[in-house]
Parts: sequence; structure tokens; C-alpha cells
Amino acid sequence: MAFSDDAWRSLDLFAPTPEHRLLADTVWQFVRAEVEGQAARFNREEKFNLALFRRCGELGLLGLTVPEEDGGAGLDATAAVLVHEAISTADPGFCLAYLAHSILFVNNFCRNASPAQRRRFLPDAVSGAKIGAMCMTEPEAGTDVLGMRTTARREGDHYIVTGRKTFITNGAVDDQTLGDLFLVYARTGERSISTLLVEKDTPGFTLGQLWKEKLGVRASMTAELVFDACRVPADQLLGEEGQSTLHMMRNLELERLTLAAMSLGIARRCLETMVSYAGERKTFGVPILEHGQIQRHIAESYAEYRAARCYVYDTARRLDLDRHGNRVDADGTKLFAARVGKEIADRAIQVLGGYGYMGEYVVERLWRDAKLLEIGGGTMEAHHKNMTKDLARDPSLIGR
Ligand SMILES: Cc1cc2nc3c(=O)[nH]c(=O)nc-3n(C[C@H](O)[C@H](O)[C@H](O)COP(=O)(O)OP(=O)(O)OC[C@H]3O[C@@H](n4cnc5c(N)ncnc54)[C@H](O)[C@@H]3O)c2cc1C
Repeated sequence: MAFSDDAWRSLDLFAPTPEHRLLADTVWQFVRAEVEGQAARFNREEKFNLALFRRCGELGLLGLTVPEEDGGAGLDATAAVLVHEAISTADPGFCLAYLAHSILFVNNFCRNASPAQRRRFLPDAVSGAKIGAMCMTEPEAGTDVLGMRTTARREGDHYIVTGRKTFITNGAVDDQTLGDLFLVYARTGERSISTLLVEKDTPGFTLGQLWKEKLGVRASMTAELVFDACRVPADQLLGEEGQSTLHMMRNLELERLTLAAMSLGIARRCLETMVSYAGERKTFGVPILEHGQIQRHIAESYAEYRAARCYVYDTARRLDLDRHGNRVDADGTKLFAARVGKEIADRAIQVLGGYGYMGEYVVERLWRDAKLLEIGGGTMEAHHKNMTKDLARDPSLIGR
């Protein structure tokens, strides 16, 4: 058979179809014109930019992975990854709020809710009229998800939800105001965890502590939420009682991939910054670009960024949004990209010297933001455990 190279050699892993290229044009234009300029102020003031979030709705970015028949863009994991990488080059803090809405809430909800629930809640979430959040973590249960204590007890046509959730991104939109729509995981039996959609004005639901002075991602709001015998209509249960593990599994791969994509954005911006700075800054009569140790920072960062990028986009290419089955790479991409993002941000500060330490040059903010990706959405240690378990169960994964 003749060797035909056209199809695969011309494949652009990072924007393979005309739809991806169009989306990339739109999102990069948005990032340069509207995300970049506001980032320093909103992160410094620890405020969430609600107007920018609504712009994401106008641009069709909030329902990227929602099927077209449900009012979304009907796009895939590659599209989601592309958007998160681009936004994180300018503002990982805002990007985390975007991710909590569009992936943790919208994608999760649309894949697990009934048609009636989708018709009722998705339009406002996709347009940006309402902001969503996902509530899994509790003060005493993070990695150990199944140790959660929040309960939901059926009483007539309501569930009575009691407990606390913490570190919830988009739990609030400002210092006093709750977000709008919440996917809440709660215990409905000793071995049964269920998912409820809770609206902000539900009796018994209030905003608890707002976490301030976070290390990074300060343009996203992180809140504690209190459920005090909160009465949630029973028709806001997603699927059947006890199905939360399935809901989590269905969303987890895209969640970790988009978090990994945030690290790519951080890595990319830091690499660009160090290359351009090193060409201009002179010491001992030559640009620092000519010093071997600076070259090592740049070259290693470039190679690591490219490796992480290929791994993330190749995993996205193969991800089926309706099915789980590739946890080892969802965890693997985040494990690898998070460390790469953090290392490259660190090198960028080193290459810029004292200027790198100053807010004006952005890399110090990205360095602080980068650490989140080693914790949120699963810690590095959780990835180690999951991946080892998956590989031990099926060693053929290694040689696929
Ligand atoms: C900015 C931010 C935003 C967040 N947004 C959300 C959100 O929107 N929704 C949400 O539900 N959660 C959110 N989280 C919570 C996040 O997912 C948890 O912080 C994370 O899962 C870790 O849980 P934990 O903090 O309770 O740490 P713990 O689980 O207490 O872990 C503490 C340490 O022990 C390690 N450890 C735990 N168990 C083991 C083990 N078996 N073996 C080895 N080591 C172990 C961990 O890896 C970690 O190093 C957010 C967190 C942050 C910081």
C-alpha cells in the first residue's frame, strides 16, 4: 500500500477541525481584548468579574460541551481544553471560576440531569444569567470524598439537607451574595451518596465563611456553604438516589483535563515572558539569553511545555464526554502538567530576577496561581494512588 501522509501529517492536535480553529480565533481575541486588561486589578482586589463571566455567555463559551439540542455549542473536550489554556495565559483566577461553572456545574449537570431538569435549569446557566458551582468538599472530607457528612433525608416531596461544604468556587459572587445554582453531593444512606440541584434562595441555605487572602487564583471566590435543614424539592434530585459516584466519574476526566489545561496556559505565558525578557535584558554586556544557565531554563521549559501540551490534547482527542474509562490519563495529564506549570513559573521568576518578583511582570501571580493545580480537583497524592491502581489492574494500558 502506498504511504499516504496527508491526513495524519496535517493534523493539528491543538485545533484539529475548522470549528476548533474558529473557536481558537474567538477565544484568543477575547483573551487579548477583554481578559488580560482586567486580570491584575480583580486578582489584587480579590473580586470576581461577573461582567466578564456574562461576556463568556454572550460568546457561547459557557455551554461548550452541552449538546446543541440543549442550547449549547455541542463541542468536545479539545474545545474545552483550548479555551482553558487560552484564558489561563492571562487570568487563571478567572479561569477557575469559568471552569467551576462550565465544567464542574454545566457539563456535570447536563450529562446527569433528566430532560425536564435540563430544560428548566440549563438555559440560564448556558447564557450566563445564572452562575453554577459544584459542592463536594467538606471541612473534614476532601480527598476522602466518601467520608462526607452532609446528609439529605427524604421527607414527603422534599429532601432535608444538613451539613457544610467548603472551598466552593463560585459559592459566592461577592462578599455577601451566594452564587445561583449548586450541585450538592450529600449522603442519603450509610453507603449512598446522591446529587441534588440546590438554588440560592432555598430556605435553610446560607453563605458561610468567605475564604480571603488565598495564595493565588484570587479572582475566583471561594466560600463555605451552610445547609441547615435546607428544604430542597425532591424533583431536584439528579438520577436516582445513590448515583453520585457515577455522576462524579462521568465528569472527572474532563474536570482534570481542563485543570491540566490551566497549567498549560500558565506555562505558556511564563515561557513567552522569559524568552522575550532574556532577549532584552543585558548583563556583562550581552543579553542574558546568551548565558548557558538561562538557556537551560528556557530550553527545558519549552520541552516540558510541549510534552505536557501534547499529552493533554492527545487525551482530550480520545475523551468521550458521555462515557468514563480513561482515568489514568485524566489524572496523568493533571499530575504532569501541574508540576510543569509550577516549575516553568518558578523558572520565569528566576530568569527575570528582581523584576520577576514584582507584580508588574505577571509571572509572580502565575507562580502563585500554579500551586492550586497540585491541590484542587484532586491532589497529586490522589493522582498517584488512582494511577497506580489503574495500571496495576490493567498493565496493558502502558503499551497502548
Ligand atoms: C482554591 C480552591 C478551590 C476549590 N474549589 C472547589 C470546588 O469548587 N468544589 C469542591 O468540592 N472542592 C473545591 N476545592 C477543594 C479541593 O478539591 C480539595 O481541597 C482537595 O480535594 C483536597 O482536599 P483537602 O483540602 O480536604 O485535603 P485532604 O484530603 O485533607 O488532604 C491533605 C493532604 O493529605 C494527602 N492525603 C489525603 N489522603 C491521602 C491518602 N490516602 N494517601 C496519601 N496522601 C493523602 C493529600 O494529598 C494532601 O496532601 C477547592 C480547593 C481550593 C484550594
